[in-house]
Amino acid sequence: MTKHYDLIAIGAGSGGLSAAERAALYGKKAAVIEVGRIGGTCVNVGCVPKKVMWNAAGIAGALRDATDYGFDVLVNDFDWEQLINSRERYIQNINDWYGGYLKDSGIDLIPGYGRFVDAHTLEVDGQRYSADHIVVSPGGAPLIPAIPGAEYGIDSNGFFALREQPKRVAVVGGGYIAVELAGLLNALGSEVDLLLRRQHFLGHFDAMLRETLMEEMVNHGVNILPNINVEKVVKGDDDRLTLHCSGGHTLAGFDTLIWAIGRAPQTANLNLGAAGVACDPHGYIPTDEYQNTNVPGIYAVGDVTGRVQLTPVAIAAARRLADRLFGGQPERKLDYENIPTVVFSHPPIGTVGLSEEEARAQYGAESVKVYQTRFTPMYHAFTRHGSKTAMKLVCVGVQEKVVGVHIIGNGADEMLQGFAVAVKMGATKRDFDNTVALHPTSAEELVTMR
Ligand SMILES: Cc1cc2nc3c(=O)[nH]c(=O)nc-3n(C[C@H](O)[C@H](O)[C@H](O)COP(=O)(O)OP(=O)(O)OC[C@H]3O[C@@H](n4cnc5c(N)ncnc54)[C@H](O)[C@@H]3O)c2cc1C
Repeated sequence: MTKHYDLIAIGAGSGGLSAAERAALYGKKAAVIEVGRIGGTCVNVGCVPKKVMWNAAGIAGALRDATDYGFDVLVNDFDWEQLINSRERYIQNINDWYGGYLKDSGIDLIPGYGRFVDAHTLEVDGQRYSADHIVVSPGGAPLIPAIPGAEYGIDSNGFFALREQPKRVAVVGGGYIAVELAGLLNALGSEVDLLLRRQHFLGHFDAMLRETLMEEMVNHGVNILPNINVEKVVKGDDDRLTLHCSGGHTLAGFDTLIWAIGRAPQTANLNLGAAGVACDPHGYIPTDEYQNTNVPGIYAVGDVTGRVQLTPVAIAAARRLADRLFGGQPERKLDYENIPTVVFSHPPIGTVGLSEEEARAQYGAESVKVYQTRFTPMYHAFTRHGSKTAMKLVCVGVQEKVVGVHIIGNGADEMLQGFAVAVKMGATKRDFDNTVALHPTSAEELVTMR
């Protein structure tokens, strides 16, 4: 017999869980179908384990700086396996918490792989489930290039499965995941080469951010190789990997190769055709601003839509969708403008709004005024291993409306959230100037720039 729900979400990740949770809050009968671990990418192989590793990398930095602050510190060892075990216990607790929360909220967790039978029916392991509303939120999966020997490399999922610290690593890719993994491995003591297809990484970020980060990473020992393509990977008798690259370059001696070249939506096996749901040529499901697909009653949220691929975006879109469907708020939708984002690099980046380049293209060069600063934060004033902080405000028009805030430096990750509120509210440079500074902090520079 087919069990019927008000709402079923395909995927118990950030998007699917949030849609089901919010529907249940409105008293609706909801279910989530999940083939893997509850929590999806973010909890299991994304934000959460990544942040744990970044925290560990930060402790390595603090231990190194401790002697400059007068401590007599002797670090004997770093036990990678102990860290991984603690991290995985933490994640298991989150998984368990979610399991209990779903039960308490009356949401059914349907384990297995969900496929469409028709526009209102899904099948999981031969059992059928129908719903008035179906939310497609299967997320994405890492890409591996189609080159000989690519299988000797691992992806970000493989990175989180490593039981031993890699000693010599090649990270291939120029997005934030590549930059983050390269940075934290380097900070934890691995020898890291970062291979970029282009001249720069973080292509969509303000030039000041990517240039400062590149300088910092090089200063901290990451070997960055721009304009290089891996064409073949060969594994030697000693298990070491050799990368044969464009231009006849050969890079040898790696024990680990990490592909971080992008992610693809997980739509190929959903049988979307049976429901008539359209995909774009890359497999993403286009939606309108209300998360509607081309089929009434079927919605898509999160990474599968190909929009801003971040956990809070998937959550916000899903919650607003449920508010609209069940909460009597017919106009509720996510505004995709001015979404803040953080890169957990070394030092971290926090950014919201338009880059200087985007602002000039959108408003005309003469309307854009930029304020920027670059300094050594007080923490690093007397440490041997320093890192710079750089900040930029991008303002437009006679009112100098702040349309972009870009920060790289210690604390940028925590600094940005409040400034993102200001940008979202349409603050001007004068509003920033009228705000009394917090002293002594790095953040105060953002309200004192000339
Ligand atoms: C290494 C890494 C680091 C990241 N760091 C950050 C960060 O710091 N901050 C941030 O905001 N974002 C980060 N992200 C991105 C974030 O994880 C995603 O944007 C977010 O998880 C997207 O949520 P989602 O619901 O769209 O998909 P997911 O969280 O991927 O969930 C989809 C779920 O659907 C399941 N599934 C797929 N197909 C089916 C099916 N047919 N039937 C049943 N189940 C199915 C999958 O198993 C998965 O559990 C990171 C991602 C990665 C890979």
